[in-house]
Order: sequence, then C-alpha cells, then structure tokens
Amino acid sequence: MTTEIYLDGNATTAVLPAAIAAAADAMGQRYGNPSSSHGTGLKAKVLLDQTRACALRLLGVGDGRLMFNSGATEGIQTAVLSALVALRERRERGDAIGNLLVYGATEHKAVPESLAHWNRLLGLNLTLQKLPVDQDGAHDLALLRQWAPQAALVCTMAANNETGIVTNLAAIEVLLAETGSAAYWLVDCVQALGKLDLDLASTRIDYAPFSGHKLYAPKGIGMLYVRAGAPFTPLIMGGGQEGGLRSGTENMAGIAALGAVLSALERGDTFRSHHQLASFRARLADSLRAALPGVVFNHPFDQSLPTTLNFSVPGLSSRELMDVFDAAQVRVSSGSACSAAKAAPSYVLDAMQAPLWRSAGAIRMSFGPLADQATIEDACRRIERCGAALRASCLIPSERTAAPHDGLLQLGVEGACSWLVLDAASRSCIVIDPLPDMTSRIESYVRCQNYQVQAIVCTSPGIDRSILISALGRHVDSHAATDAYGWPASGHAIELGAQTLFSVADGAARHYLLGTAVDAALPPQAVRFAFSARPAVEALRALTCAHTLLCPTRDEHNQFCVGMAAPATPATPAALQLDRAALDAFLQEHPDTELIDVREPYEFAATSTPGTAGRGARSVPLSRLAEHASEWLRGAQQGTPTPLVFFCRSGNRSLKAAQLLRRLGHAQAYSLSGGLALAPLAHAA
Ligand code: PLP
Repeated sequence: MTTEIYLDGNATTAVLPAAIAAAADAMGQRYGNPSSSHGTGLKAKVLLDQTRACALRLLGVGDGRLMFNSGATEGIQTAVLSALVALRERRERGDAIGNLLVYGATEHKAVPESLAHWNRLLGLNLTLQKLPVDQDGAHDLALLRQWAPQAALVCTMAANNETGIVTNLAAIEVLLAETGSAAYWLVDCVQALGKLDLDLASTRIDYAPFSGHKLYAPKGIGMLYVRAGAPFTPLIMGGGQEGGLRSGTENMAGIAALGAVLSALERGDTFRSHHQLASFRARLADSLRAALPGVVFNHPFDQSLPTTLNFSVPGLSSRELMDVFDAAQVRVSSGSACSAAKAAPSYVLDAMQAPLWRSAGAIRMSFGPLADQATIEDACRRIERCGAALRASCLIPSERTAAPHDGLLQLGVEGACSWLVLDAASRSCIVIDPLPDMTSRIESYVRCQNYQVQAIVCTSPGIDRSILISALGRHVDSHAATDAYGWPASGHAIELGAQTLFSVADGAARHYLLGTAVDAALPPQAVRFAFSARPAVEALRALTCAHTLLCPTRDEHNQFCVGMAAPATPATPAALQLDRAALDAFLQEHPDTELIDVREPYEFAATSTPGTAGRGARSVPLSRLAEHASEWLRGAQQGTPTPLVFFCRSGNRSLKAAQLLRRLGHAQAYSLSGGLALAPLAHAA
C-alpha cells in the first residue's frame, strides 16, 4: 500500500513526535492548572514559563509581550482590536490618527475581515485601503509611501501562504520611518515561523501573530507578539491568565507541544537549513517541468520561502491537477477555492495580475522544514507518474498517439456539455454541440488520438464552429459544405464505423439519433442514443425506444443522460450507499459484482495500487458513463442485471453514477460511501 506524501504544509502540518510526547506528558503527568498554587499546578506553571522563555529568545521579543492563544486568527483579531481601540481613544482626545487601514492585497482573509469587522463594531469608519502588489507579489512601496502619512494601521504579512512570497519588511520599516508615519504595524508571521529569521524587538513591528499548526504543533495553539509600548486591549476577559492579556485556562497540551517545536528550532538539530529546503524545491520544480510541459511557476523563487511552489499548467484545471495528484497520493492544494464545476480564481494570483488560466488553475505544493530527501525523491517519481497519466489521457501533449477510445465521450463545463462520438477502428469521430470553452480540450483529444473529425454538428442553427475547425487543422475537412447546423450538405446520414448518425428536425432545433442502421434507416429499436439540447423531447418519443438514452447538451443537474422510458422511483442516497463493511458482505453475496472506478482515466492511471478489493476494477469515468450505462441496461433489460458498485475518491462521483443507473431502472447499482479516501479497497479481503 502506497503511503501518502503530504505536500500541503502551508495549510497545516503533522505534529512533531516530540511535540506529541510533550502534549501527552502535559495531559497525563503535568496536567495541573498553572494558576493553582499547589505542587501539581506549579509543575504546569514551570512548563508554561519554560515555553514562553524559549519563545521570547527565539523570536527576539525583547521588552515586548508574548501571549499564548488559540492561533493566528485570534492573534489577528486581538491585534486589530488593540490598534483600533487605541486609534479611537486618540481620535476622541483630538489627536490626528490618519484615516486609512492599509492592508496588502495578498493578506490572508483573516486580516481584511477583522479590519472590516472591528472598524464597524467600534464605529471608527476608517477607510480600508488595499495595497496592490506587482506581478512578483511585492507590495507597491511607492503607493505605500504616498499613503503612509494618512495610515492609521498597516498590515503586511511576512510571507504569503499561497505563494510563499516574502515581504520586504525592512523596506517598509524604512518607508514608515521616512514618512514619519504614526501608523501601527501588524505583520502576520504565520508562514515565517521556522522559515525566516525573526528578531521582532529590533523592528518597529507592533503586532505579530503566529500559529502552531503551520509548524508541527497541534491546531488550536498560537502566539501573539506585542511590541513594548504598543497599545493592547484584551479580546478575552476573565480570570486574568497570561498576565491579564488573554484570559481562560491555558491550553497546556498545545503549549507543551509548541514548546517542543520551539526548542527544536532553537537547538537547530531538527529542521533542515534554508539551503537544503531550497534544493528540495529545485528538485520538485525540475520534476514538475519534466512531467508537465509548459508548467509556469507563479512566483519568483528567489523572493519566496524555499518550501512553497505555486504553479499552473496550460490546458489543465486545478481540479484535474488536484485529482491526479491525489490519486498518486500526493496531497497538494489548489491555489484557489474551487468548486466541482469550475475553479474560482485565486485572489492572491489575481492581485499579482496573473492571467485567468493561471489564477484559476493554480496548485500549491508546500512542505515543512522537516522534509527529507527520500520523500522528495518519492514525490518526484509520483509527479512523473501523474505526467504520464495525463499524457495517456490526452490532457497534455504527448509525442505518442494515445490508445484510441470507442463510443461516447461527454465533455462538460458549467452545466453545458459537448458530446464526441468516437470510432476507434476508423479513427474517426463526430463532435456534437462544441462549447467554446472546450475547444482546446477537443482539439488536444482529437490530435492526441489522431482522429479525423467527420462532422461538427449543433442542435441549434448558426453556432460558430470556425474556431474549432481552425484549431483542428488537418483533422477536419474545413471545406466540407454544411447547413446552418453543421450537417453535411451531401447526405441524410453520417456513417461512423458500424454506427450511423441521423438528424431530426424539430422546429428550429435539431436532434440527432445514433444507432446501427437497418436498410439505411434507423428503426426505433436500433436507436441507442439521442442527442438534444433538451432533456425531455416529445418529438423523439416515436422515433426511439425504451432503452434509448437521451444525451442532453445542457446538463445543469449532472444527470449525464436520461432514459426515454419513465424514470424509476428515485432511491434515497442512503439506500444506494455501501460502506466498507457492507461492501464486503455484498461481494460475498454477489460474487459477480462489477467494481467500477468512476474517476477520470488519469486518476486511475496515477493510482499506484488501484483499489480492487481483491478483484478487477474497471475504469469507467463519468465522462464515459452514458456509453457504459447503455450496455449495463441492456443486461438488466434481458433480466440479468450485473450488480454494480461504483467508487471514486470521496464517494460523490460514484453516488451520481449509482443514481443515474437507478434512475434508468438498474436495481442493483450502489456507491462506496466515503470513497477510496475512507475505504481503501486495496486492503479488502
Ligand atoms: N495567516 C496566514 C498567512 C495563514 O496561512 C493562516 C492559516 O491559514 C492564518 C493566518 C490563520 O491561522 P490559524 O489557522 O492559526 O487561525
């Protein structure tokens, strides 16, 4: 069984074994309340004091204050509240405070959200001013210089979580001094801890929040540095813990664990040097360049943390990249928040004026300073495998022609879809309703499989096909005479291997019927598929039969296809799902069950140990489901339904597949709940 390689260190990290031991000790042995004056409490107090002393030395806190809290989001709140309360008091005294709350355009959302929240709650009505960054992610210092005299608070993170870009804090410090700015200065140091040298008291930084879980301590523990003389207002009042700065009984397990991490940092014997980390990044970058042609790194390495790579690959969405890496058990994150349908662009890369394809397709690969050479080498091998899997699936250019596919392929985007009818024997295909967004996908698919496109037909008239025709080059006859729907002027049917496509006029719309022709016609019983812009079409009823599948070119609800017969009563999701134990029992009872992996072929290919529960699993991605559904239904209609269990990574896609089959009348279709993530089938009996 392949182990996972975790390359998402900027999101969170595993806990250092010494930190786990320290937390266990704090919970099991030194469990006292540090405020208690008896011996048990005193032991806890010693632990608390030792940890604080270590943090003070390591961060160069000097005369400043350092409190433990729940993490950086709390630290940011506290810092913003402290600065804004002081500003309000100064304003009430009649002092000029400036009217701008300036924050870098690439700050973590916790910063602008807290600014807006406390600005409103405190009734300050200062102006939130986003400071732009350049294409390399560096703050616009000329603009900051201009704004500095009116700035009440300036927030500039030490290093960015998406790109690792390091802020030139020294230059900002000079600028604030030169302009005589009285602004408070908040520097989010979350991503800097353990990766950049910090000597806080030697700077004019007023507030610096930290988070334990970004550096091998558990979630729920953090620190806030406050410069000596900087105003402070507690966020949480109560028993006066942390010298009254932050009440509430201390999270001693978290503090002990953080203490173990901080002392490892201080000793310098646990974490890799900057140089070693930079060599790991270079190795990963080389392997990405080799595996994913055209990969673009979205940040200058020499101005970034050595532990972060943020990249985009032309023609690939972040969803596809995430999926293929995840299949190879390499955990990365998409640089942007993405939904299943379409990735939302990353606000960080947008701020850096990256083009949309890079901003919406970005992947972040990040590791912590505990990374080791063997893991990096293993990651590189898996990256290579991901590249090969994507090439074999025609998602990235390949010198070799991929093995041709047969049957139907659905290519969808945001509720619309194009269909490709493929014939491997003659290496030819027909495109139905080409979507502009799918042009490059169709082109690379056709080129990579070396198909000849016989026709590009549409269900409505006047659709512009010229962009696709020119993209396809020699793979299509660009001079063929067609009508307004792209249908060849020369014939009433298009033959594709053993199948024939017929066109049906329906007012201004066209529908297309596919099947094996009998005497140059297509009797209803022979129609396997009907293509239409509409999911329910009366005009087709007399021309098709109960086992015809209607493939709509609008598919907002991810139905894939619908049957011409009345849909079966929908089963509840619960009735369709088998957990791991139920699957074992089901397989015992139904040894003829087919296990179907509905992940995309590149995910299937990138999986080192495809889950098979001791039997062969077939790869039928959702994009090919209609084709296979038609076969499975034929078996079911002949009275011999093969039991089907679909699986995918998380259980979402497989549930959709099982729902489709049930809707179409197959009574024995199930989904593995939780997917491979929760129930790795390779362990099956
Ligand atoms: N600031 C940055 C730069 C971060 O990366 C994060 C974590 O995602 C935070 C703040 C929030 O930290 P926490 O999870 O400790 O609240």
